[in-house]
Amino acid sequence: MRTLIHGGDIVAHDQGGHRLLRGGALVFEDERIAFVGRGDPGPVDQRIDATGHLVMPGLINIHCHADVEAGGRLVADCGRRDFFQAGFLNYNAAPRGVRNLPARQDPWIGGRFAMVEMLRNGCTTVVDIGTAAAEHAAIAGELGMRAYLGPAYKSYDYRMGERGELFYDLDEAAGLRALDRARDFVRAHHGAHQGRIQGMLFPFQVETCTPTLLKATRQAADEMGVGIEIHAGQNLLEFHEILRRHCQTPIEYLADTGLLGPDAIVGHCLINSAHRLAGLPAGRDLEILAASGASVAHCPLVFARRGNAMESLHRFRAEGINVGLGTDTYPRDLISEMRLAALFCKVVEHDFSVATSAEVFSAATLGGARALRREDLGRLAPGAKADIVLVDMRSLRIGPYRDPIKALVQCGTGDDVRRVIVDGRAVVEGGHVLGADEARVLADAQREADRLWAEVPEWHWEKQTADELSPPSFPELVGDLWGGR
Ligand SMILES: [Zn+2]
Repeated sequence: MRTLIHGGDIVAHDQGGHRLLRGGALVFEDERIAFVGRGDPGPVDQRIDATGHLVMPGLINIHCHADVEAGGRLVADCGRRDFFQAGFLNYNAAPRGVRNLPARQDPWIGGRFAMVEMLRNGCTTVVDIGTAAAEHAAIAGELGMRAYLGPAYKSYDYRMGERGELFYDLDEAAGLRALDRARDFVRAHHGAHQGRIQGMLFPFQVETCTPTLLKATRQAADEMGVGIEIHAGQNLLEFHEILRRHCQTPIEYLADTGLLGPDAIVGHCLINSAHRLAGLPAGRDLEILAASGASVAHCPLVFARRGNAMESLHRFRAEGINVGLGTDTYPRDLISEMRLAALFCKVVEHDFSVATSAEVFSAATLGGARALRREDLGRLAPGAKADIVLVDMRSLRIGPYRDPIKALVQCGTGDDVRRVIVDGRAVVEGGHVLGADEARVLADAQREADRLWAEVPEWHWEKQTADELSPPSFPELVGDLWGGR
């Protein structure tokens, strides 16, 4: 089956970078792109009119937790001061023997909600870090999404003591057993659903993994030929915890255990020896990262919500570090994430010329592909996978434009996505995800989140309610208000 997309502005790929083809043609045959250009593409079986649309590669989200984010949504504007800017510790640490909030979720509802949201917003490939890899593999398989999956594991649990003090609860053997289960998952699922499901190893966070677990992870990744992603440089507490335990920065620690390499992605790397809040006199973290070939998953929105920003996307790139984009928590809209990546970098550097629209667009496509070591993703060129997104550029918010990439990055959102194709198969048409009842997916997610919020006192160390933990923005209106009599 050969399909022609014509009439739009096409982001083509040639000689290592994106090129703009205005009003050309793209043909894909089954799951691969066969032609991009202005010439005669030969006979086709079906045609897609892309007039007024930007035709771009499917976006790659290299850091995501596919769930309803009941916890993340609780900590907007609030949280404990002694966790510094970390949001997740507010709902991940529960007293011993008590299930924390993430452990209470239904993986089917959260996984389906998050993947439907991502496809709707033009994301075709996701690196999904969580514990419900088997359920999420089934959901991605059914929806037609491309996903890198594995059950995350760790040696330490975050725990809360009687006075609300955070401590790290070590069980080395449990961490190693969980790595074995992750290895089994990869063996069972790697390459499933026509190769759309890929295995990956997720030692959860740098401060919850011992050197033994990290070294075993490196060995397993080498044996199986799969990638690794770990959270590191997430917040000040973690950065200084690793310094205290190992007399090393998290990046030095990861390099020392052999975890870093071209197959490794460091989630966030916000707090590192180059960040002004780290409080170190000097350091070589960016140099070490660049030399290792590891990539960084940059998620600007979730950190801005906690009052922090990478310092900076421009410096990471100038150092030669590959950076891809992720959404981490919510919302899962990589088009908005591109804009925030550009704006925060310009603000941090006080320089309008850095983090251009071209750079952040490339990070969300080619940067992600490089992080996953995929030369057939993130680009529209013959031989690449037919992962294609059509964005309707005819909206009041986007307005008049000369340069569709600048227009998309400055004005676009996931709502502008109209059609998404993964592996040559239509997964979104007319702005709706095929094979999913969006209204029902959303209603299920609301019900699930309401249930989880009602359970807050069951895991909170001080038995706080959701309203106490996360005070409403405005007090509730009491009584009726009447006018004119
Ligand atoms: Zn994360």
